Amino acid sequence: SETKTKIISAISALLVFLLITVMIIVRQYKITDTLNQEVYEKSIRDNMTGLFNRTEIINLYQKNIDKDISLSVIDIDDFKNINDTYGHSVGDIVIKDISSIIQDIVGDKGYVGRYGGEEFLVILNKSDQYDSKKLLEEIRISIENKKWFFKDSPVTVSIGLLNEAKNTSFNNGFKAADELLYLAKRNGKNIICHI
Ligand code: GH3
Ligand code: MG
Ligand code: MG
Repeated sequence: SETKTKIISAISALLVFLLITVMIIVRQYKITDTLNQEVYEKSIRDNMTGLFNRTEIINLYQKNIDKDISLSVIDIDDFKNINDTYGHSVGDIVIKDISSIIQDIVGDKGYVGRYGGEEFLVILNKSDQYDSKKLLEEIRISIENKKWFFKDSPVTVSIGLLNEAKNTSFNNGFKAADELLYLAKRNGKNIICHI
């Protein structure tokens, strides 16, 4: 009977030990998983704005190429002036605030990426509820209406919109949208040019 008690306590100790080991492994696995997730999230985001970075927005375009998508390029007007007049850190704030406006309006209707300095790409899924032109017009107006702490006049953006980007390669789609952006700039800025 004493042997029996010894065996039972030995088995109990072993079970407790195994349970603790399993708990430690599971916890370690969860930590690694969270870290991997964080590393992955960082790798697809632009760290200044939190938008998708250039590589990822191109990936997302290619992943959705067979869907009814539109592609637009948004570029801040006369941004160099803002940097030169108010300083680079004010310029950074403008980029961040404009990024938030675009992201808030696009929401889950598509994807927003920072393509370069003060230039953004928006991929929108076609839907009965809205059209790309209307949504981008809402973005343009929201930016125009934003009040800034450093000056009384608005900061504006110009937009090139390619409405039917389905099955168009990224290079060709971007080229088309960028040419429309150029047209918007040449026609006085703060407008959308679209096809
Ligand atoms: P346009 O109306 O034709 O677009 O003129 P623009 O002055 O906006 O365009 P331009 O390409 O001449 O200038 C863009 C400037 O953006 C130049 C660059 O120094 C600045 N820039 C790029 N990235 C950043 C950034 O992350 N922060 C700040 N503050 N400035 C940046
Ligand atoms: Mg610009
Ligand atoms: Mg630019």
